[in-house]
Amino acid sequence: MSGALAGEVADIAVVGSGPNGLAAAVMLARAGLGVTVYEGADVPGGGCRTSEVTLPGFRHDVCSAVHPLLSVSRFFRSVDLDRRGVRLLHSPVVLAHPLDGGRAAVLRRSLDDTAAGLGIDARKYRRLLSPLVGDCEGILSSVLAPLRSAPRSPVGMARFGLIGLFPASDLVRQFRTDEARALFGGAAAHSMRPLRSPLTGSFALLFTMLGHATGWPIVEGGSARIADALIAELTDYGVEVVTERWVRDLGDIRAGRATLLDVSTTQLVSMAANRLGPRARRGFRRFRYGPGVCKVDWALSGPVPWTAPACREAGTVHVCGTFEEVALSELEVSAGLHPERPFCIVAQPGVVDSSRAPDGRHTLWAYCHVPPGSTLDMTDRIETQIERFAPGFRDLVMARTATTAWESEMHNPNHFGGDIGGGVATLRQTVFRPRVSWNPYRTGIDGVYLCSAATPPGAGVHGLCGYWAARTVLKDLRIPAASESWQRVQETG
Ligand SMILES: Cc1cc2nc3c(=O)[nH]c(=O)nc-3n(C[C@H](O)[C@H](O)[C@H](O)COP(=O)(O)OP(=O)(O)OC[C@H]3O[C@@H](n4cnc5c(N)ncnc54)[C@H](O)[C@@H]3O)c2cc1C
Repeated sequence: MSGALAGEVADIAVVGSGPNGLAAAVMLARAGLGVTVYEGADVPGGGCRTSEVTLPGFRHDVCSAVHPLLSVSRFFRSVDLDRRGVRLLHSPVVLAHPLDGGRAAVLRRSLDDTAAGLGIDARKYRRLLSPLVGDCEGILSSVLAPLRSAPRSPVGMARFGLIGLFPASDLVRQFRTDEARALFGGAAAHSMRPLRSPLTGSFALLFTMLGHATGWPIVEGGSARIADALIAELTDYGVEVVTERWVRDLGDIRAGRATLLDVSTTQLVSMAANRLGPRARRGFRRFRYGPGVCKVDWALSGPVPWTAPACREAGTVHVCGTFEEVALSELEVSAGLHPERPFCIVAQPGVVDSSRAPDGRHTLWAYCHVPPGSTLDMTDRIETQIERFAPGFRDLVMARTATTAWESEMHNPNHFGGDIGGGVATLRQTVFRPRVSWNPYRTGIDGVYLCSAATPPGAGVHGLCGYWAARTVLKDLRIPAASESWQRVQETG
């Protein structure tokens, strides 16, 4: 039992109950500290929430839907997800990327089967991906850690880093088929950067490598199950998660030993008032956000009628067309424009999870990138893109709900301007995130730490920003790593 008793000040206050805030709370509670979590929204979970946003009985993931990083996270490996009711479901096809004429690029778990679908690019694909997939664990141990850590696999990391440093537009020059080029273009576009920018190649490599090594699973019942699992563990430790409690100033909450903030850098600067030194304040103010997203959820009367059969078996579908079309869409967004033919990331949980909708019905989840702060509802443009590769799609729509970039920030202030990535993935912000400092989790204020996706390793449901921030707290508090619960994490991590 490590929670604070009513009226007592807990050792640790965590502000924000996204996967990173909850991960930090779990780590610190395991180490025997009393923890209280404060969440502004009425439901905890941040990016891991599932809700009936269209019609009764249709359960939609409000934010994250696809979870390639969950099973490779050293934090989540220390959580007994199975016992806590989190079941990862893998679709027969990891990712499909439809092209005109009923064709599609198809990423399958098997590297050979994927390569076989890429015609004359098969050998090059295998040569590029095979060493990375073989060394996936070693590479991820660096990619998912603060950059100051020594790589566990220097050769694998050097290979990944040297190729990934290049723009995706350079990476795809070696490929001749529309399929291979589109596959990498779609994966690279998760960076939300123009595909001519440095480092966009690393997103293409990371997501294709993960597709082969671990898959891109969805969670049975929805991503809220992930937050539920962490809250269940916190409950076992007696930790209270207080909801509907927005923290505007550090003075609003009290903590005996440390405060961890699962918030944006903009919020940190505003909450800290004059407590940040000038250097730290300047550093956090230099932090840059990326584009926003406009998201749409649909309740459908049946599965999406994709022309390319592989798309009907895929958990994720990248909708835009050729590499050049994806690149144009991302370029337009970076120029402050709303693309007429946006690059859309579409998730169809119904392919593997019948619990999301009443019998025979389906939910569909999609978003596209838009300029920061956009108030434009992109539903019509997204539907036109889907209809292009799945004629008859609109006839299935029973209900739809759109969330613009601006509305996204209104729901969760961490999504500054609708940026769901916790900050833009430039070279500078990959090396120095959230500011130039040796330890990215310390804020420069004694006892106050940042643990959101603004810190390494950045966006995604992995809980590792919280995990690494909690490790910093334990180090600063000189809590010995030998404590029984802490030992468990050391061993499984
Ligand atoms: C539409 C969308 C789709 C996504 N898809 C995926 C996906 O498929 N796969 C994937 O891995 N990732 C995805 N992500 C990204 C992922 O959800 C985030 O990277 C992740 O949730 C970040 O976790 P976090 O704990 O840092 O912050 P969040 O999950 O944003 O949680 C922060 C929490 O803190 C609360 N909070 C903020 N400020 C305050 C305050 N001042 N006081 C009190 N509470 C506060 C918020 O209400 C929120 O609950 C998606 C995100 C969005 C929005």
